[in-house]
Amino acid sequence: NTFAELGLNEWLVNQCTAVGMIKPTPIQRNCVPKIIEGKDCIGCAKTGSGKTAAFALPILQTLCEDPYGIFALVITPTRELAFQSAEQFQVLGKPIGLKVVVVTGGRDMMLQGLELSRKPHIVISTPGRLADHIDSGTDFSLKRIKFLVLDEADRLLEDNFGEQLQTIFAVLPKLRQTLLFSATMTETLQELEEIAMNKPFFWQC
Ligand code: AMP
Repeated sequence: NTFAELGLNEWLVNQCTAVGMIKPTPIQRNCVPKIIEGKDCIGCAKTGSGKTAAFALPILQTLCEDPYGIFALVITPTRELAFQSAEQFQVLGKPIGLKVVVVTGGRDMMLQGLELSRKPHIVISTPGRLADHIDSGTDFSLKRIKFLVLDEADRLLEDNFGEQLQTIFAVLPKLRQTLLFSATMTETLQELEEIAMNKPFFWQC
C-alpha cells in the first residue's frame, strides 16, 4: 500500500514523500493505476479525498514521457479550486520544472493570453474564461492535449456552464484521456459521460 506499488516513477514517489503524502488514499489507490494504464476514469469523491493528486500524479508521470505543448486541461467550477489544484500540480511537478497556468475570470485577458501562448504543460481554468479565450482568438491550441479533467463535474453542470463546455469541447481532440470527478453522480452527469468519455473505469468510495 505505497505510491510505488501504484506504478508511479521513483521521482514522483519521492516527491509524494517530500510533501508528506506517505500512503495513497482510497481514490488514489484505485484510480491512479487505471489512469496510468490509459483508461478514462470517473471518481465519485469529495474535496479532502485526495482526488487532485489522484489525477495530478498519473498526468505528471505521462507528461514526462512526451512533454509536448499544452498537455492537460483541468476544468473546475470555481477560481479557488483552480488555484488549489494548480498549487498541488506545482508542488508535485517541481522537480521537472512544470509550467502551470491558471485561467479564471477577474484577471487581465491580455496577460492570460500571453501566458497561454507560451505553451504551459498544464492549463487549469474555469469554463467561462477559457471559452472567452477560445472565442476571442487567443493564440493557443488545445488540439493536442492528452488529458481533460472535469473536476467537481456536478458543480460544473449545476452552474449552467453547459454552453461554455460545448465551446471548449469543440476545440479538443477526440483522442484523449478524460477524467471526471464529482461528489454525486446525477443523470446529467451520465449524459456528459456519454458525450465526453470512452468506457470509463468507475470508482465510488
Ligand atoms: P483534495 O481532496 O485533492 O482536495 O486533497 C486534500 C488534501 O489532502 C490536499 O491538501 C493534499 O495535499 C492532501 N493529500 C492528498 N493525498 C494525500 C495522501 N495520500 N496523504 C496525505 N495527504 C494527502
